Amino acid sequence: MADTKMPMPSKKTIALVAHDHKKDDLLQWARYNKDLLKKHKLIATGTTGELLHRELGLEVAALRSGPLGGDQQLGAKIVEGEVDILIFFWDPLEALPHDPDVKALLRVSVIWNIPLACNRITADFLISSPLLEEEYERSVPNYEQYRKTRISTGFDSLREE
Ligand code: PGA
Repeated sequence: MADTKMPMPSKKTIALVAHDHKKDDLLQWARYNKDLLKKHKLIATGTTGELLHRELGLEVAALRSGPLGGDQQLGAKIVEGEVDILIFFWDPLEALPHDPDVKALLRVSVIWNIPLACNRITADFLISSPLLEEEYERSVPNYEQYRKTRISTGFDSLREE
């Protein structure tokens, strides 16, 4: 079944998230790219958003803090098609209490095929892409067949005897 096309406008909605040991890294990156970031709509988990606003004066819609459900809020927005790009500097060296939420956020980003940068070099390549300021049609696999197969093969107990 053909992929679904999701339009991405030239002004993107960019989500930013950084774990505590990665916040300096994200701030430095955002400072360097501030003029580019200002052209887009920014959204972030609570503490990351607050820091980006306080330190760099960026306008950021801040959700709840990540460990308090902010990652899940962001994941829901990705599912709803409200986020175009995710810059997520997660910490590979520390166990976090909200690890399942982190995994879920990474997972929905891949399911819905949004550009995802988990480190600075990928974020550099992403933000310098000419596609950043162009309209773009994002392909999303058509999950209808997957859904239908699950309905037709599962839930035996719901079938009539
Ligand atoms: P924070 O959340 O921006 O509120 O620190 C990030 C995270 O840990 O997911």
